[in-house]
Amino acid sequence: MTNADPGAYGSSWLSATRVAGPQRPRLGVELDIDVCVIGAGLAGLTVAREVARRGWSVVVLEAQSVAWNASGRNTGFVLPGYAASGSALVTRVGADHARKLWQLSEQGAEYVRRAAQDAAMEGVHLTEGGWLHVAKTDDARAMQAEAELLADGFGAPVGFRSAEQIREQLRSPLYFNGLHYPRGFSIHSLNYALGLAAAAERDGARIYEDSAALEIDPAGVRKRVTTKDARVRAHHVVLAGNIHLANLMPQFAKTLLPVHTYVIVTAPLGAALHEAVRFPGAVSDTDLADNHYCVVEGDRLMWSGRSTVWRGKPQDYVETLLGQIRRTFPQLKDVKAEYAWTGLLGNTVHLMPQIGEITPGLWLLSGFGNRGLNTTAVGGELVARGIVEADRTWQLFSPFALVWSGGLSGRVAQQVFYWTSRLKEAVDGRMARRREEKRQREADEQSIAAARAETAPEPAPAPPPEPVPAPPPEPSPVAPSQAAPEPVADSPPIIAAEEAKVAPIEPFDAAAGPPKERPEERPEERPEARPREQSKRKRPPRSKKREADSAGEGPPTGG
Ligand SMILES: Cc1cc2nc3c(=O)[nH]c(=O)nc-3n(C[C@H](O)[C@H](O)[C@H](O)COP(=O)(O)OP(=O)(O)OC[C@H]3O[C@@H](n4cnc5c(N)ncnc54)[C@H](O)[C@@H]3O)c2cc1C
Repeated sequence: MTNADPGAYGSSWLSATRVAGPQRPRLGVELDIDVCVIGAGLAGLTVAREVARRGWSVVVLEAQSVAWNASGRNTGFVLPGYAASGSALVTRVGADHARKLWQLSEQGAEYVRRAAQDAAMEGVHLTEGGWLHVAKTDDARAMQAEAELLADGFGAPVGFRSAEQIREQLRSPLYFNGLHYPRGFSIHSLNYALGLAAAAERDGARIYEDSAALEIDPAGVRKRVTTKDARVRAHHVVLAGNIHLANLMPQFAKTLLPVHTYVIVTAPLGAALHEAVRFPGAVSDTDLADNHYCVVEGDRLMWSGRSTVWRGKPQDYVETLLGQIRRTFPQLKDVKAEYAWTGLLGNTVHLMPQIGEITPGLWLLSGFGNRGLNTTAVGGELVARGIVEADRTWQLFSPFALVWSGGLSGRVAQQVFYWTSRLKEAVDGRMARRREEKRQREADEQSIAAARAETAPEPAPAPPPEPVPAPPPEPSPVAPSQAAPEPVADSPPIIAAEEAKVAPIEPFDAAAGPPKERPEERPEERPEARPREQSKRKRPPRSKKREADSAGEGPPTGG
């Protein structure tokens, strides 16, 4: 394992591959400005950049280093949507409102793409290729319904993929159907955040590191924020501190559930990785914060998951995450981890971000959960527009009020939810694979049966019927030549007569003596007149040679 940088950004692969950036000073002077942003994660940096671009003065206070937490430790999937599903949005706010929210989420992803490209940010490695959200069960209904809702209801570019299509791109026995979002992409998140900070500064924002906001007086037109060495007076204050706001404004931090997520980057896997993972974009195989992955640096896997509500040591989760990789892609059995780290995100109860003005001039920009890359961009831009242009689009988020996350009980409930959901996922997945194996076995058996029927030896033609002596002519008033033949109700149908020709000869068991005299049979009850499928059961046993030839075609045993 590589201990890349035990400093601000931890021993992550993101830290090991980050671009060089300046260390920013601590705030040491009093400032009077238009906007004070607390927190230099993606939310704070975006709002600062957008305020500065609109010509207002803005300062960012960061307790540690720019993007040292979630914003610089995440897996970098820039996706449409929110942590809440499309159908949850419709249920909550109605179809029209939900469509507008969804479109904002897409604009957020586009913001990131444009910002990275326009500013020619170094080291961002923007990788197009879309996002695959795959299922580990064979019940496609939920995914199909979500695809229909997103495509037809929201006009989103999203397509349903069958299990065959998914397995063509991800060679895993665990996967079934999936949804493909072609506009999803991935980035080096830390380099994007550092690039965004530099872009905000170029536009006029000032960023101070090691400058925790220790107190805030949000009353009055000029709000006051106090740091260890200085004070800022501002018309507007934006709280963009994520879950770390607890020291400053616990009432807001209490609306978030802390979730620690663990990430590893593997040692190079060479050609085996490309054989297993042919999809060029980002992949998630769960609705939880588990199992999100993509290829980085050509032949390494970045893989995240195993969320906990407590902070665990990343090293303790390495084997679990490697186990997930091996289970998903057994062909990568020799996989090893080279980097491991963790990051903390804040989940809201309704899984939607908190974006808006709480009291005049006091803004909240928080709760982005595991879908923070596009939504911090949406939130940052909307709040900047709200402050500078009095734009009210942010009010689309007003239905998602500040809800207490339940304190300790909330955390316990969240962790129990993770455990039970994982268990349920595992059981559902296993059942789905069993059902698939059964279907496969039945299909194999049917095709073997069909092949046997086709290759069965042509039976000897049936012996000509014994000539039956004609009964003595009955005296009749009508001459036989003129009489129309009486239809015989139980005479054998023509088809039966045809098949009788190819019916195999019945085996005769000499030891059992002559066949017992059979009761008077109607013609269609005679074996030679029965349809072929029935008479086939009495076919004589095949030779040993034929048995051996077909032995390999038998249905698989076990399972
Ligand atoms: C492991 C992991 C993987 C993830 N993967 C993805 C992904 O692939 N795609 C996706 O969309 N999202 C992902 N996320 C979520 C995403 O990273 C976050 O939602 C997003 O970065 C949150 O940004 P933020 O600015 O709100 O918070 P943060 O990045 O936590 O920034 C908040 C900042 O505020 C500062 N601060 C707090 N209080 C104060 C104070 N009093 N004074 C000064 N500064 C203060 C903190 O020091 C911190 O730097 C992931 C998260 C994690 C942890």
